[in-house]
Amino acid sequence: MILGILNEHDQRVAIVPQLIKKFQKLGFEIWIEKGAGETAFYSDADYESAEGKVTSKSEILANADVLVTYHPPSDDDLRALKSQALVVSTFAPYIDDSIIEHLKQFDIIPFSLDMIPRTTIAQSMDVLSSMASVAGYRAVLEAANYLPRYFPMLITAAGSIKPCSVVVLGAGVAGLQAIATAKRLGAVVEASDPRAAAREEILSLGGKFIEVAGANDDIGAGGYAVEQSKEFLQKQAELVQERAAKADIIITTAQVRGRKAPVLLPTSTVEKMKKGSVIVDLAASTGGNCELTEDGKVISHNGVTIIGDSNLAAKMPTDSSFLFSNNIHNYLKIMVKDGQIDLDWENEIIAKSCLKSKNKGEN
Ligand code: NAD
Repeated sequence: MILGILNEHDQRVAIVPQLIKKFQKLGFEIWIEKGAGETAFYSDADYESAEGKVTSKSEILANADVLVTYHPPSDDDLRALKSQALVVSTFAPYIDDSIIEHLKQFDIIPFSLDMIPRTTIAQSMDVLSSMASVAGYRAVLEAANYLPRYFPMLITAAGSIKPCSVVVLGAGVAGLQAIATAKRLGAVVEASDPRAAAREEILSLGGKFIEVAGANDDIGAGGYAVEQSKEFLQKQAELVQERAAKADIIITTAQVRGRKAPVLLPTSTVEKMKKGSVIVDLAASTGGNCELTEDGKVISHNGVTIIGDSNLAAKMPTDSSFLFSNNIHNYLKIMVKDGQIDLDWENEIIAKSCLKSKNKGEN
């Protein structure tokens, strides 16, 4: 079986050389497009010495039994694949389900990594978690770079420094990693999340929980948050505004799956913040938690720096590529038996992440 990896417009690469042996044990040869690992600091020579085959994109598309990418391949690439190739990517059908219809024109079997259920058994395949965790860590470092202050409390001969104050809005995977990272750097951290489970997690990391009464928490939503009432969002906005006025850094990660991100920092709140303070908005690509966020840009409003970036995991490509590769290995392990692709449609992970009919080959 041939597993193809392309050179994507992303700093990450889908499979790193040190994992090739593990894929070989499953029965895969790794074919990788020239230069695909360069931006993640894995050279073509590294792949070759790990027994990967470095080749052209056209050769990969014509021969791959499985193609793995971060971003959905182009229509031309999908058309160039051989019949019934498995395409493993992040198609985000929960944002726009027309992709499912669109993919029907290609003779492939598409799998969407963002549809893997968030269950304990699937944790080792969960690329959303791996990437969110890297992004949460990196968000704190990005903020630290722009902040004109220290993070920790310092007592020096030249005077005492107060610890920096960080507010985290949304305590899912990214938010919890941001809390842990900011705490490690010495900040005082407060966080808000409507899910009841988030409270204990915030406290266990040494953060303070911003208590907002009346949250709508649906355990049937697969662990995801559900949309909150106007009253909740209003109460939350008042409490956040109080905290924002004193904060040095606000990191926002609040998402409601398949919906526009809730606006938690309206312009009026930003205008109450201290000059020199920093907002990092990880929800930028779904509309942003801050009203002023511009996706993919760093702007300044009234002395407040606002960083809009939902792709921060790509800024740590060596480790994020390694984690992604491990997730893919664990995922493909359940699709292979005795060195052959063998899709068990009774397996919830395979069935829920496949974007085609449950019967292989059927449209
Ligand atoms: P996400 O990216 O969908 O959302 C980020 C956070 O925003 C969530 O914690 C959500 O509750 C929060 N949020 C939504 N509205 C908000 C508001 N108005 N104010 C503040 N916060 C708001 O979340 P995620 O990080 O992908 O995690 C989703 C869920 O999946 C979590 O419950 C997490 O614990 C769970 N999870 C389970 C597994 C697993 O068992 N395999 C792995 C990872 C995550």
